[in-house]
Amino acid sequence: MGDVDIKNKRGIYEYVLGGEVETKLIEVRVFDERTKLAAYEKQTKKAEAAGVSNCPMCASGTNNNAERIYRLEEMDADHVTAWSNGGASNLKNCEMLCVPHNRSKGNR
Ligand SMILES: [Zn+2]
Repeated sequence: MGDVDIKNKRGIYEYVLGGEVETKLIEVRVFDERTKLAAYEKQTKKAEAAGVSNCPMCASGTNNNAERIYRLEEMDADHVTAWSNGGASNLKNCEMLCVPHNRSKGNR
């Protein structure tokens, strides 16, 4: 209940009783692993085809990382529309960034 990452408090009981799998019931701030993996695969495929980095921020740069393909564990999920602006933690609103870029964007 005290978890600030949970927006929908009314969904908590249903979530817990349901075995804590339906994260959409509580509208969590963090992306689940399945969503991250799906976003990662989508971005990486596209990036490899284009010959650019799978971190969109690196890809738009001009240094050595502009063509770097990061591994999943080297990336973090970011909200395209910020969580604080009502952005959901779903695949549509998920963008994978390399860890340094995700950190530099801060906790939006
Ligand atoms: Zn990057």
